Amino acid sequence: MSHTAFLDRPVTTAPVPTALRMDNVVLTFPDGNGRITAVDDVSLAIERGRSLAVTGPSGSGKSSLLAVAATLTRPDSGQVWLETRSGAVDLAAADARRGAELRRGEIGIVFQQANLIESLTAREQLEAMAWLGARPSKARRRDARERADDLLDMVGLGDAAGRSAGALSGGQRQRVAVARALMNGPSLLLADEPTSALDSDSGRVVMDLLLDTAREFDVALMLVTHDAAAAARCDAGIHLVDGAVVH
Ligand code: ADP
Ligand code: MG
Repeated sequence: MSHTAFLDRPVTTAPVPTALRMDNVVLTFPDGNGRITAVDDVSLAIERGRSLAVTGPSGSGKSSLLAVAATLTRPDSGQVWLETRSGAVDLAAADARRGAELRRGEIGIVFQQANLIESLTAREQLEAMAWLGARPSKARRRDARERADDLLDMVGLGDAAGRSAGALSGGQRQRVAVARALMNGPSLLLADEPTSALDSDSGRVVMDLLLDTAREFDVALMLVTHDAAAAARCDAGIHLVDGAVVH
């Protein structure tokens, strides 16, 4: 006999913890007298703790798609559902202020270049994330510092926390960028060609970090990459040609 007979509500399996779902996203840009379709009716979903590779030739719309997921670009049509701490939000409908809020708290982004502030130490790059938009209390500062140091440890830079950005190698800088992207506990981590400016050894370390942190921190990872080996290491993949998914 089923135990469920004694429950007043039916037992269902837990919903799949989808972090990001894009439905029929279209993004166009002005192009001469007409418009160019950078993202052509793309739908996808990424669960927390899982990774999706986005591949495709140059100009196929990879960065445009990532920019939509990052709330950096609003699509012409379609929905972009992000499961946040306070429920599902349609990023396609988020205004600039809400977008900035989401990028601060829910979405971590890593670009090809680490974009560190040269005058700050590795630790301060991370701490600055916790200070954005808020006057930090003493307790908050202490928490931020602890989390920054934990994350730098995790990316293998515990000893370099006090070193300034300018004293770090390219691979180290990108590891700081990954740690920084995780600083505010995002549900979604977006990476646009994060290893393409690195030598292959440093690139592999950064890839390991991205895939490991997605699993360990239960973050959904969207990885734009030219690197077939990196794409093959993701849980799933889509290939874009002229903005559309091809199989
Ligand atoms: P990928 O990252 O795959 O190289 P992009 O997303 O950068 O591709 O570009 C996709 C298409 O959209 C290209 O044709 C590109 O020229 C165009 N595009 C991208 N961003 C803009 C923009 N801000 N203004 C006009 N066209 C753009
Ligand atoms: Mg690109």
